Amino acid sequence: MAEDKALTPRSEDFSAWYNGVVQRAELAGYSPVRGCMVIRPHGYAIWELMQGALDGMFKATGHQNAYFPLFLPRSFLQKEAEHVEGFAPEIALVTHGGGKELEEPLVVRPTSEAIIWPIMADWIQSYRDLPMLINQWANIVRWEMRTRPFLRTLEFLWQEGHTAHATWDDAQRETLLILGLYRRFMEEWMAMPPVTGIKTEWDKFAGADRTYACEAMMQDKWALQAGTSHNLGQNFARAFDVKYQTEDGAHDYVWSTSWGVSTRLVGGLVMTHSDDTGLVLPPKLAPIQVVIVPIWKSDDDKGRVLDAGARLAKNLDADLRVRFDDRDTLNPGAKYYEWEGKGVPVRIEIGPKDLEKRQVMAVLRFSEDPKARKFAIAEDEVTARIPALLDEMQAALLAAALRRREENSYRGVTDYNEFKKIISSSGGFIYTGYCGAEECELKVKDDTKATVRLIPDEDFASDEVPDKCICGGPAETEVVWARAY
Ligand SMILES: [Zn+2]
Repeated sequence: MAEDKALTPRSEDFSAWYNGVVQRAELAGYSPVRGCMVIRPHGYAIWELMQGALDGMFKATGHQNAYFPLFLPRSFLQKEAEHVEGFAPEIALVTHGGGKELEEPLVVRPTSEAIIWPIMADWIQSYRDLPMLINQWANIVRWEMRTRPFLRTLEFLWQEGHTAHATWDDAQRETLLILGLYRRFMEEWMAMPPVTGIKTEWDKFAGADRTYACEAMMQDKWALQAGTSHNLGQNFARAFDVKYQTEDGAHDYVWSTSWGVSTRLVGGLVMTHSDDTGLVLPPKLAPIQVVIVPIWKSDDDKGRVLDAGARLAKNLDADLRVRFDDRDTLNPGAKYYEWEGKGVPVRIEIGPKDLEKRQVMAVLRFSEDPKARKFAIAEDEVTARIPALLDEMQAALLAAALRRREENSYRGVTDYNEFKKIISSSGGFIYTGYCGAEECELKVKDDTKATVRLIPDEDFASDEVPDKCICGGPAETEVVWARAY
């Protein structure tokens, strides 16, 4: 039975641990197609909660959802030179359809700029049509060679925003609005606080003027690029001839942005909070927030605890996502094992002794103080207390993730030997001065596998930045280095 199989501890093999957590929580499974994954119901339920929260934030800021085709003619992709070059190695091409060779092969979208802009060109006539704020929830395909569930798969789910504006300033404002929105979602919902900033010139999205990113620290101190927001300038508007009539009657190309987060966030959630027992979920993204497990030995007890459990479930159900686990095919221990592995934040146990004492036992999936995980709650206080416990756990998870990020961030590093020592021992985010040369990064990557994650924005920049790069050259800017997924 799976029950006997312990997870590989994080400290021993983080990657094996990750796969174990995903399996035990039944988030995803492997598919007959190499590199593709099956998202199982529990994993999909987490994604749906993420979608709901993000979709609400997009709509609250004036964006609308639409849907564009899965295929794009190959010639479309070729219109923006950097874009096609950037995506060429990852393209899946359809050459046959209906038993015949196609006149023009179709690309399965790796991202949708090249199909959306030719269409939006027809939607946009004048400045009155701007800004155009569109989002799409969709699947995309990138032919990745090395894949891992949620983190990197051939096909994945995401949202991609595509917006058009009258000025560079407007497009830049939108790019930063979305970056801030992603950061807020990651902090408030995922309890996964990212560092935000701008990517280096060679690390930008193919075809963008500027790429901004959220980089979150996982428990192994590696960075996960969790979301990106691009100011595309007029590059795509020029490539696809997207013009509008300005207020004074002239014609100009629109300024555009694109931005996205994907099911990769589910992987980030796993790697931020989970422990050696299995999945840990922040309550806001837990498909089941409270599980009630009745405990009985005699038939007489059974009737009474089932009644009490059902009553409590009904009381909590109005505001929370509750599961009353009254299955009599599993003993309580097996149920605890299952729900802990699936990351349910609060477990309520009700046995005959609890009924006598007019109380229930609460067990928290996560607490900063391990000794405070299990305690009794008086029967008449349960409905008021549980929502507060969930809020506290949400806050405690964010605090723990923040503390871990800060404890493993190193600022003002100038000595390359010290840099190498940090990367090869504890790992972490290392803030240094940077000369700006790509070759410098390549050498560091060669030596240590660490890369420049981003140039930190004002919320994360150090008060004092060394005037030297770790290569010894003069520093142009500050950057954050880390090993990354
Ligand atoms: Zn350098």
